[in-house]
Amino acid sequence: MQKHPIHNFIALVEFDRKLTDLERLIKQKQDDIIQLKEKHDQADQLAIQANLSMRDTQKVVDFCELRARDLEASAVEKKQILENVTLPRARRSAQLELDHIHQEQEQNERKMIASWDGLERARVKVVEQNKLVVEQQDKVTQSVEAAEAVVVQFEQDYKDLDKDRQVLVDKVPEEWLEKYVSMRGRVDNPVVQVQGQACGACFFLLATPDRIALQMKALRQCGNCFRFLYHQSLIEGDQESGVEPEDEQEK
Ligand SMILES: [Zn+2]
Repeated sequence: MQKHPIHNFIALVEFDRKLTDLERLIKQKQDDIIQLKEKHDQADQLAIQANLSMRDTQKVVDFCELRARDLEASAVEKKQILENVTLPRARRSAQLELDHIHQEQEQNERKMIASWDGLERARVKVVEQNKLVVEQQDKVTQSVEAAEAVVVQFEQDYKDLDKDRQVLVDKVPEEWLEKYVSMRGRVDNPVVQVQGQACGACFFLLATPDRIALQMKALRQCGNCFRFLYHQSLIEGDQESGVEPEDEQEK
């Protein structure tokens, strides 16, 4: 028993749906790979920032320590002057300067202690961030490898399916194929069964001549959504009696 070409057509549509699903899966996996790599880059970037921040804090520490040495040297100098001058005015002036240096020393001391604490925190942060980068590097590498393997497998499946597809294409009338190709991609169910007196997809009410033609097992296009329509009897007829209309391809 030779099947009505509608069966091959429906099979082709089903087949193409599988191909489309596969294309979608490949795209998804490829997006996953990009995201994983981005995540890793972000961790890298955070590690670089932590490192820069630590270096900035180190600069503040260095500056405070240098300043402390300078201030100490100035204080020693002023003390010597105080010990050696006898004129009251000169002594007062030297004492004022020494007091001022002591104030600066206190301020610098506070700043230095804060910057030491800051440096300690920055160091901890750098260690944490570097550890995170290493951990993520392993995870990302594994995930990317797994995802890439899946993509390779999917692409192989796709190629294999594409070869099989030609067998179906050869069994579908040229005229249907042309219309189908122009419709494919816009809808994922280009061939639908008539529901009562309407298109099974958009429920557009069919004109009487179309309804009659469909009942006569012809294929029609919906006047609204342009999907291919067939009557249920077309498939049932095939299964039960092997009915095979002759004039399908001319429509
Ligand atoms: Zn429709």
